[in-house]
Amino acid sequence: MLKRISIVFPIIGMTVLIVLAITSYFYYIEVKALKDTLLVKENSKAEDIYFIVESLIDREENKLRVLAITLKKHTDLMAGLSHFRKSKGDITALKTAMDDLFLDIGTDIFQVADINHRIIYKAHAPFKKQEIENIPGVNSALFGGTYTTAIQTEGQWAIVAITPALYNEKIVGSFMIGTWIDNNYAKKIAFETEVHMTFGSLDGIIASSLPFDERPDIDTATMRKSIQDVNSIRIELPDKFKVIHYSPTEIAEKLFSVMVEINTEPSYNLVEDNRKHFLKLSLIVLITAVSLGAIFTLYLVSPLKKLRQKAKQTVMDISGLDLKESGRNEIQSLIRFFDTLVTTAINQITERKEAEEALKKHQEHLEEKIEERTAEHRETNKKLLQTVAELEKRTNETILFSQIGGLFQACDTEEETYNLVERFCKKLFPKDSGYFSIYDKHSSDLRVVASWGDNMFEDTESPANECWSIRLSTIHIVKNIDIDPLCPHLKNFPARPYICAPMIAQGELLGMLHLTLNKKIDQRPKENQEKYFDSKKIVMTSLLEHYAPPLTSLRLRETLRIQSIHDPLTGLFNRRHMQKTLQFEAQRAIRHGISLGIIMIDVDHFKKFNDTYSHEAGDIILKELGAFLKKSVRQEDIACRFGGEEFVLILPETSLEDSKAKAEALRLKTEDELKINYHGRSLSITISLGVAAFPEHGQTTDEVINASDRALYLAKSEGRNRIAVA
Ligand code: GH3
Ligand code: MG
Ligand code: MG
Repeated sequence: MLKRISIVFPIIGMTVLIVLAITSYFYYIEVKALKDTLLVKENSKAEDIYFIVESLIDREENKLRVLAITLKKHTDLMAGLSHFRKSKGDITALKTAMDDLFLDIGTDIFQVADINHRIIYKAHAPFKKQEIENIPGVNSALFGGTYTTAIQTEGQWAIVAITPALYNEKIVGSFMIGTWIDNNYAKKIAFETEVHMTFGSLDGIIASSLPFDERPDIDTATMRKSIQDVNSIRIELPDKFKVIHYSPTEIAEKLFSVMVEINTEPSYNLVEDNRKHFLKLSLIVLITAVSLGAIFTLYLVSPLKKLRQKAKQTVMDISGLDLKESGRNEIQSLIRFFDTLVTTAINQITERKEAEEALKKHQEHLEEKIEERTAEHRETNKKLLQTVAELEKRTNETILFSQIGGLFQACDTEEETYNLVERFCKKLFPKDSGYFSIYDKHSSDLRVVASWGDNMFEDTESPANECWSIRLSTIHIVKNIDIDPLCPHLKNFPARPYICAPMIAQGELLGMLHLTLNKKIDQRPKENQEKYFDSKKIVMTSLLEHYAPPLTSLRLRETLRIQSIHDPLTGLFNRRHMQKTLQFEAQRAIRHGISLGIIMIDVDHFKKFNDTYSHEAGDIILKELGAFLKKSVRQEDIACRFGGEEFVLILPETSLEDSKAKAEALRLKTEDELKINYHGRSLSITISLGVAAFPEHGQTTDEVINASDRALYLAKSEGRNRIAVA
C-alpha cells in the first residue's frame, strides 16, 4: 500500500534529512567541543608536568647545595683531607670518612680534589667516567664558596654541587657531590609525574624512562629545535594515541629539552563513547521521526483516497471523462485529476466567457434597440400627449366657441358683447394680456372697449392706421420684437411678442383684437414657436369669426330699429314712435302729476315751395328743419316728423305756457335763421304752430294731439307764420 502512496517518501525522506542534518550539526558541535576540551586538558597537563619537572630539578640542585655546605662542617672529612696533605699522600683517613659519609648522603657522585683540582678520591664506585679535573668554575668554587652546575663527562650529564674544603680556615681542596642525569633519574621523575620522561641535549637523548623499544618515537631533531628556539613543540601521533611535548628546561643554568608523552587513548575513548552516544540518540530520533512520518502518512491515506475518489467523481461530473488510474498513486492520480479539472475548467470558463461576451453584446444591442424604441415611443407619446392636449384644448375651445356664438347671439346691445369679449379672452388667453378695440368709422379711430391681463387699455383711442394689421387687412404677428415691425399704437410697448388681428366682416373693418404674449418663448424650438403662434392666431381668428357675425347682426338690428322709429329724411322719430313715446310720457306725467307740452308744426305754403323750387329743394329744407328742431329742443324733448311737412314736439314736464313760449321762439328762430342755399339762392320758410298740453286738453294722447292739430289749423286760418293755443 505504501508503494502506492508517493507522499510517504517525501515526508519520511524530509524527516530523515532534517534529523540527519540536526544530528550531524550537534555531533559536529559536541564532538569538536569535547575534542577541544580534551586538547586543552592535555596541554595543561603537559605544562603541569614541566612545572613539576622543573621543581624536582630545583629540589635536586638545592639538596646537593645544602649537602655540599654541610660537608664543610664535617671534621672527620676535613681532618682526613688535612692529614692527606700533611702526610703527603696518606689517603686512609680521608677514604674512611668519605666512604662512611657516601653511604649516608646517598648521592651518585662524591669525590674530593686538591687545590690543583686533581681528584684525590672518588667515593662512588665503580666510577668509569673521566676524571672531573677541568670543570669550569671549580677554581672559583674554591674561593667563592659552594655552587651548583650541570656537567658532562663521557657523554653523561650530571648535576653537581662543588664546595671548598677548609681546614683551620685554609682552603685545602674541594668536594663534589652530584646526581647523574641518567635513565634512573628520568624514571625517578617519571615516577613523580606519572608520565614517561626523556631528557635531551643538543647531542641527543641523555636520559629516558622509556624502555628502549619505545624510544624510536623520540624525534631528536625536534628535541634540538626546542632547545635552539627555546620553545615548546607539540607532536601528535594519533595512531599510537600519543601526544609528545618537547619543552626547553633549565638544569643548573644549562638548557636541555624535556620530552613528555601524554597518552591520548582515554580522551580518544571518551570522544568515541560520546560519538556512540550521539549515534544511538540520533538513531532513536530517526526511528521516532520515521514512525511519526509513517503514522502521519497513514493518517493521510484514508482522506487522500477519499479525496481521489471525490476528485475522480468531480472530474467525471464536470468533464464527463472516466479516468483510469491503474498504476498510479494517489498524488499522481490527484495531479492527473487536477490537470483534467483545470483543463476542463479553463475550457468551460473560456466557453462561458465567450458566451457571456456574446450575451453581453446581444444585451447591449437589445438595450440600444430598447433605448431607440423608448426614445421613439417617448417622442411619439410626447407628440400624442401634445396632440391630445391640443385636441382637448380645441374641444374646449370648440365648446367655448359654440357657447360664445350663442351668447353673442343673445346680446341685445353691442356694449353687452364687449363684456363678453373680455370674459372670453380671459378664458382663451388666461396667461396673456390684451384688448379689443372697436372701429369708429366716423373718426377712423380704434377705441378700446375690452381688455384683460396685466395691461389695462380701457378707453384709449388711437388712429386705426397705426396698426399694421389694419393697414395690411391681415393678422400681424410680432415674434421677435427686435426684428418684426412694431405697431405705433402700442405706446407703452410691452417688450414682448404680440399679435394684432383685424376684425373684418364683408369687407368692413369692425375692430381689432390685440394679444400680448406673456410666456417666454425664445428658448423653445423654432418649430414649437411657430406652432405656438399658429395656435394663438387660430384662436384669435376663431374668436373674431364668432364675434363678427353677431356684432354685424346687432348693428343691423340696431340700424333697423333706428330706421323703424325714425324718419329717413329728417332723422327725427316717425309718427309711430312718437305715438308710443307720447303714450309713455303721458303715463309718466299722470304718475308724477306734471304737465306734458305738445307742439304741432306745419310748413306754410309748402306746396307752393315745392312747385316753385322743386321737390329736391323741398326735401332739403325739410331735412334742415328736422335738424333745426332737434337741436333747438332739450335732450329729453322728443322731435318727430308727423308726416309730410308736419312735425310734432313732445315736451315732457312742460306747462302749456312754457310750451307756448317755446313754440313762439321756434317760429321766430325758423323765420330768421333757417335758410338753405339752393343753386346759389338762399331759400327760407315759415312755420305755423299749434300748442296743447296734457292733460289740460284731453284725457287721451289722441285727444291732445287733435287739440294741437286744431290749434294749428287755427294758426293757419289766422294768417300763418304764427302760433295758436288749443
Ligand atoms: P297751407 O298749409 O299753408 O294751407 O298750404 P300748403 O300748400 O302747405 O298745404 P297743402 O296741404 O295743400 O300741401 C301740402 C303739400 O306739401 C303737398 C305736398 O306736395 C307737399 N309735401 C308733402 N310732403 C312732402 C315731402 O315730403 N316733400 C316735398 N317736397 N313736398 C311735400
Ligand atoms: Mg300740411
Ligand atoms: Mg302746409
